[in-house]
Amino acid sequence: EKHESLNFIEQMIEADLKSGKRQAVHTRFPPEPNGYLHIGHAKSIVLNFGLAEKYNGTCNLRFDDTNPVKESTEYVDAIKADIEWLGYEWNGKARYASDYFEQLYTFAVALIEKGLAYVDEQTAEQISAGRTNPSTPGIESPFRNRPVEENLDLFKRMRDGEFEEGSHVLRAKVDMNSPNMHMRDPIMYRIRKVKHHRTGDQWCIYPTYDFAHGQSDSIEEITYSLCTLEFRDHRPLYDWFIEKLGIFPSQQTEFARLNLGYTVVSKRKLLQLVEEGHVSGWDDPRMPTISGYRRRGYTPDSIKNFIKKVGVARRDGITDIALLEHSIREDLNKKANRVFGIQNPLKVVITNWPEDKVEMLQAVNNPEDESAGTREMPFSREIYIERDDFMEDPPSPRKWFRLGPDREVRLKYAYIVKCTGFKKSESGEIEEIYCEYDPETKSGQDTSGKKVKGTLGWVSVAHAVEAEIRLYDRLFRTENLNTIEDDYLNHLNPNSLEVIEHAKLEASLAHAKPGDQFQFERQGYFIVDKDSSSNKLVFNRTVTLRDNWGK
Ligand code: ATP
Ligand code: MG
Ligand code: MG
Repeated sequence: EKHESLNFIEQMIEADLKSGKRQAVHTRFPPEPNGYLHIGHAKSIVLNFGLAEKYNGTCNLRFDDTNPVKESTEYVDAIKADIEWLGYEWNGKARYASDYFEQLYTFAVALIEKGLAYVDEQTAEQISAGRTNPSTPGIESPFRNRPVEENLDLFKRMRDGEFEEGSHVLRAKVDMNSPNMHMRDPIMYRIRKVKHHRTGDQWCIYPTYDFAHGQSDSIEEITYSLCTLEFRDHRPLYDWFIEKLGIFPSQQTEFARLNLGYTVVSKRKLLQLVEEGHVSGWDDPRMPTISGYRRRGYTPDSIKNFIKKVGVARRDGITDIALLEHSIREDLNKKANRVFGIQNPLKVVITNWPEDKVEMLQAVNNPEDESAGTREMPFSREIYIERDDFMEDPPSPRKWFRLGPDREVRLKYAYIVKCTGFKKSESGEIEEIYCEYDPETKSGQDTSGKKVKGTLGWVSVAHAVEAEIRLYDRLFRTENLNTIEDDYLNHLNPNSLEVIEHAKLEASLAHAKPGDQFQFERQGYFIVDKDSSSNKLVFNRTVTLRDNWGK
């Protein structure tokens, strides 16, 4: 039996279920629809949906849509698509905090009636000044002790739209002397005369995160409300509202957020990258968004395995991006068929091969997966090899296994060829090279007894498919973007995208469709991009075969 160690949240859950403190695992993933999901959200998704799966519970998708200014249905739809793509289902239907606006209003009225909330008419600056600092007692608002009836009346009139934005707020009456600033009479409602993407003009007061979040958890009978560490100081308030309202006791637990090297995980910054045109959109393959990774060629399994390897911790850290890259290499190594793609082509003429002869050769699709089968590759007198695979004046044959004058290599799945000469342009560029093949050396039927160390990829000139290839590098040049003091935009990598306009691919790729994935032998993993058209294929490089960044 496989024994895996439990993380601290699983330990807590198992102890609760055993002691009877909890009967069920109900979690939720609560995105605010104000941007696309990023790799940090993937951690929360895998954690929340994963725990529900593991303990036979349920996980809700709840849009925390309480701030209408920045939210939209475009984001709602994109978030749903990303979660589905990762392979999770959300307990029947999507939930929305905005569906609870009436209930939340009723809760607020109940707190007013208990003398635990009041309408404050101070300005935002006065409220903030009154909170002072953690080591100094706060200053009570002059409106703090107004009678319940007056509060009820004013709160209703706030809702009815009688007052200007910023003129009134509803505050919880908690403790103006608490060392925890979140307990110094936090704001529960603000006036915002803004149309909401779901409730339209129905409301002109909106609950704050602190008031909406825990109560929404409670309405849904969430047992485990998991959030990132920066909410630890909000927990006493989370508990205070639930206790004073006497509603279902959801419980908040904090875990470390995911930070990834060379990456920003903040919707605000990602939005800025999109809006200022540093990238082509939310799904630019360099973006750390789920849609960016998808377009780049990351698979759901690679992302989920990565998140599982990172694990759940109680303290913040920064995760090495090599772990994510390893995860996609590991997955595609099993799943992606191998093909030949030449990025920087150099023409080779095999001078002793008949002009019009085409021979079909057998190539293995995936050495890791026999069921992937074989394909036929046309071989002819003129082929392309990678320009890097030829040197006019190579070092000793013990250091250079590829082609050079009088050197021999094997063309994979084909023959051993020997370089007999080359042609240079006036500017000194090698234009083409000449080889002779040895008919006794056909792959699989070699009777020559020859041994060569180098094996090259190649593509028949007459059969080649032309394609654009987009090579991506890290979007930022600095590993830990949390510790920089200047603007993170100064750390953008100016060479994060290199476009190869005229790559030459083997004939079998002629009918590749957007989303198809391949290993280009010796180069890396590639996916057909949505920008492809019937007369031009576009490929994105997902990842190189080896971790050779910066070398
Ligand atoms: P951002 O700061 O990028 O806007 P957010 O936390 O404000 O992110 P939400 O939409 O509120 O974004 O997040 C939904 C859930 O995802 C929350 O429970 C949040 O704690 C979690 N989450 C967000 N970022 C990360 C991260 N980097 N690592 C782990 N969980 C995260
Ligand atoms: Mg948020
Ligand atoms: Mg945030």
